[in-house]
Amino acid sequence: MRIGIFGGTFNPIHLGHLRAAEEIRERFDLERVIFIAAAVPPHKEVEGGIPGEHRMEMVRLAISGNPHFSPSDIELKRPGKSYSIGTIQFFREKYGPDLEMFFILGMDAFLEIGTWKSFQELFSLCHFIVMTRPGFDKPSSATILPPEIADAFVYDEGGDRFIHRNEYSIYLQGVTFLDISSTKIREEVSKGRSIRYLLPREVERYIKRHHFYKTKGD
Ligand code: ATP
Ligand code: MG
Repeated sequence: MRIGIFGGTFNPIHLGHLRAAEEIRERFDLERVIFIAAAVPPHKEVEGGIPGEHRMEMVRLAISGNPHFSPSDIELKRPGKSYSIGTIQFFREKYGPDLEMFFILGMDAFLEIGTWKSFQELFSLCHFIVMTRPGFDKPSSATILPPEIADAFVYDEGGDRFIHRNEYSIYLQGVTFLDISSTKIREEVSKGRSIRYLLPREVERYIKRHHFYKTKGD
């Protein structure tokens, strides 16, 4: 079995996430993509203070109806901060060594991987798929790897990937550029502007109903 693990703050989830995940699923022939909302992201505060349960509920609303997408609240159930290393280890233990696991993330997030907990170890647990996004296109050379990890990889030009000393790889995958971010959505809401067509209708309604992202006094 081949599964993708797609973590994020999802504050809120939007069409940039969903379309990218769909393209990755198809391109890598993944049986399932598991969406995981981070509890307290180690690298940033959750803007608007939206609790993990609500961010996870928005994920559920967004992916319901796609049989290949499923939610996991593993990071919300674990006490304290979420670290990707713990999540990957959890799925590795749950499914055993035969599972082909792909950790999916955008290039902006990947470029900060040198700051993640136990980042060297990550590459001995699963493959990585690094997606392009506006402002973060595929590089023209092999110099994209953060210096902290570059030595451990060999660039495979034909395959658009970096091969680790062990069996796992980092794949660079172009996806349709959708210039959508959760930051932009939060800003539009706080200014009282429309967010329609940036995210699924159900998620938009959920945000309205719960008055998320409004500046105080609205
Ligand atoms: P924020 O603006 O709050 O950082 P975001 O839009 O970047 O939100 P995250 O929850 O931080 O969303 O992203 C989760 C993952 O999805 C990250 O790895 C990020 O790089 C990736 N991602 C987010 N938006 C896009 C997009 N439009 N296209 C491709 N990948 C994306
Ligand atoms: Mg982000």
